[in-house]
Amino acid sequence: MKTLEGKTLSAEILSRLPARCEAVKAKRGFSPSLAIVNFYPDSPSGVYARRKMASCAKIGINAKLFSPDPETSYTEFAQLITKLGNDPAYDAIMIERPLPKGFDIRRTWEILPAAKDPDGISAVNLGRLMMIRKFSELEKEPFFVPCTALAVIRLMQYHGIDVAGKNIAVAGRSSIVGKPLALMLNALDATVTVCHTKTGNTTEIFKKSDIVISAAGQAKWIKKDILPENAILIDVGTNIGEDGKLCGDADPECAEKCSAFTPVPGGVGPVTKALLLEAAVKAAELSL
Ligand code: NAD
Repeated sequence: MKTLEGKTLSAEILSRLPARCEAVKAKRGFSPSLAIVNFYPDSPSGVYARRKMASCAKIGINAKLFSPDPETSYTEFAQLITKLGNDPAYDAIMIERPLPKGFDIRRTWEILPAAKDPDGISAVNLGRLMMIRKFSELEKEPFFVPCTALAVIRLMQYHGIDVAGKNIAVAGRSSIVGKPLALMLNALDATVTVCHTKTGNTTEIFKKSDIVISAAGQAKWIKKDILPENAILIDVGTNIGEDGKLCGDADPECAEKCSAFTPVPGGVGPVTKALLLEAAVKAAELSL
């Protein structure tokens, strides 16, 4: 059984970024810059935002954290995003979730400028992803795709897993993970079945799949008896288990049935983080 760890790939991606940051600075006089907007400093999103700030400092991205009051109105928040979008001092904007209750998430992804959207969640970037025919177009085109979905692909490629012609089950249909991932796998010539909470025959679909990917966000819901023999299992879930510890969507017993699987933590997560920072640098390069 092979562990599809993500830390080495993450370190490789990050190691290439300082030189790219220096090159941007040499051309225009200032480093790539990132605005991180986070409403809840004491929640996990606050922890992630501060970790991103620290990583940015290490590689040469000039990051600034904006922490609006959660009582802020949606109009004021939209004005902040529009202001950052128009401000040439910022190449990229990351909006941490959750947003305050009642905020219009879809409208937010519409006002976020595509050129400053390293996580590829703006309406324009998602629309562009919808239109690709071959995955290689993503490498050439100046746009961004959701980093978690891309991290799954990059991690599989890194570990030599070819998805062309494979049957792949994806559990989860969110706009930031499940749906864009299904589009990317499709562009890599895989046959994809997307499962969700209303899918009645998930086990049957899993059993017929060569690769199972879970982005359901349900702690340890995948048990070994719903997996095919020698499954390749990619676990995107980041959950807090009953013991209070970080865990994935797969029960650890699944490892017995897998030919390869991603650990949580240490699998998809570190690659996602590195790709987000890489995309922020790409946004600065594209602005030149
Ligand atoms: P979400 O809640 O928006 O979407 C979850 C999706 O899973 C929904 O479409 C739902 O229908 C589906 N689902 C739930 N239970 C299911 C089940 N039993 N069978 C099949 N489908 C089921 O969540 P999200 O934002 O897409 O994130 C999903 C998970 O990925 C979360 O645990 C999140 O923390 C994690 N995540 C990890 C990374 C990373 O880098 N590792 C990045 C982003 C999100």
